[in-house]
Amino acid sequence: MSCADESDEHWSYNNPSTWPDHFPAAGGSCQSPINVVSSETVPQQYPPFIFSPSYTGLTLLTLTNNGHQVAATLKKDTESETQSDLWITGGGLTDTFHFVNFHLHWGRNDRHGSEHEIDGNIFPAEAHVVLKNNETGKTAVLGFLFDIANSPDKENAQWKAYSTAASTLINIGDTVDCMINMSQLLNIEDKQFFCYIGSLTTPPCTEGVIWTIFIDTITILEDDLNLLRKNIMRKVYRPVQPVNDRIIYRNQVD
Ligand SMILES: [Zn+2]
Repeated sequence: MSCADESDEHWSYNNPSTWPDHFPAAGGSCQSPINVVSSETVPQQYPPFIFSPSYTGLTLLTLTNNGHQVAATLKKDTESETQSDLWITGGGLTDTFHFVNFHLHWGRNDRHGSEHEIDGNIFPAEAHVVLKNNETGKTAVLGFLFDIANSPDKENAQWKAYSTAASTLINIGDTVDCMINMSQLLNIEDKQFFCYIGSLTTPPCTEGVIWTIFIDTITILEDDLNLLRKNIMRKVYRPVQPVNDRIIYRNQVD
């Protein structure tokens, strides 16, 4: 994930193993993404996620090609009205977290693209919703894995809107506005998830990030991923990092 402020930093997805040379945190012991080994996860009771009512309406977002990905942020001139309304609490989030951005990671073909792996399984794409607790400054990320839709009517319409708009942003710095229903974009009711403490997956790779990885996949058409591969970047993901002695939790579902 990215907090979208690093666009002028010099790093690329061609050589993630060199990131620690310039960004020391990237060489830390609690990095993301990881491969989640589900049999080694620890069950835990979590309160249900609660999304602010604005999630069910349309949100006006600005998509920006920041040179590393296409991040969707609240459109600037509406920020004052809507910023405080898009919040999430519950799950592994002990407090209220506000929306910062969402973006997609993908690979050069459908065998690559997700940052997290589950039991060694790689998915063709992974979305991140970046959240921030304005009081503590803590960052949380919700991660969503994708499968390829086998027909257009099976594709999540909001991700189609994102990928269609995003794929027009051919040059770094290009922006376009887009209306998104955040609730339909995330569609996370009753989903199972994993929770652990990791890092940003883009430089500076700061640690202390609360990660929630949802197990149920979202669907996207291969054609839409191909548009992003062709028009934006061939691949946009960091390989998995060592888990070390971290505990990965899963929500206990009765
Ligand atoms: Zn990300």
